[in-house]
Amino acid sequence: MFIVLLGGPGAGKGTVSNEICERYKLPHISTGDMLREEIAKESELGLEVKEILASGGLVSDDIVKKLIKNKLASKSCENGAILDGYPRTEKQAETLTEVVESIGKKLDFAIEIDLPDDIIIERVINRRLCSNKKCGAIYNAKYNKPKVEGICDNCGSELFQRPDDNEETIKHRLKVYHEEAEEILKYYKDNGLLTTVHLDGSEKPQDLINKVIDIIEK
Ligand code: AMP
Repeated sequence: MFIVLLGGPGAGKGTVSNEICERYKLPHISTGDMLREEIAKESELGLEVKEILASGGLVSDDIVKKLIKNKLASKSCENGAILDGYPRTEKQAETLTEVVESIGKKLDFAIEIDLPDDIIIERVINRRLCSNKKCGAIYNAKYNKPKVEGICDNCGSELFQRPDDNEETIKHRLKVYHEEAEEILKYYKDNGLLTTVHLDGSEKPQDLINKVIDIIEK
């Protein structure tokens, strides 16, 4: 089962991915995570994209295509995957269809999480992430605090804040998202794959997760 998660930064794609990957035993493919790993390794690619991530702009379609192609061709994706943060342009959406078809599979769902921008901004500024990649738990310093400040409830690792989770950059990331979103959503609507989950920000993470499970299982 291949599922594309769409929605602005901080809409809840990571939270949904953590749960859905565990439940359906599928790998989580986040191009943002892959790019951050390259930056942490200080690889040639990491150095090339570092400034782009810091500013909240988009990395070129060709760079992310290589990352996604290698990953989808790997054995870990033979039963499917959850795609989070890819595609981000219509061209990437077309590439994804081609790549998935080239391995003899098809996309099953494109699920959009729609949340008002003002809520997204507040959430992202307060977002805290577990530094243990295998855990990946996501907290909010205001609304979903860990029991001990700065420490993950699940695994005891330190929490951190992404450098691009600041007010200025999130506003730019949202602008970039809205510039591209309409065409991607149209692409998946025309393919008959799109379902949208509308949220107003009052929902708990589990409410969103349940809505996504309903879409997959109905
Ligand atoms: P994310 O973790 O999905 O919020 O992505 C963090 C940053 O990585 C984005 O602001 C972009 O700079 C870059 N990025 C992630 N995925 C893509 C993509 N599919 N296309 C272009 N840039 C991306």
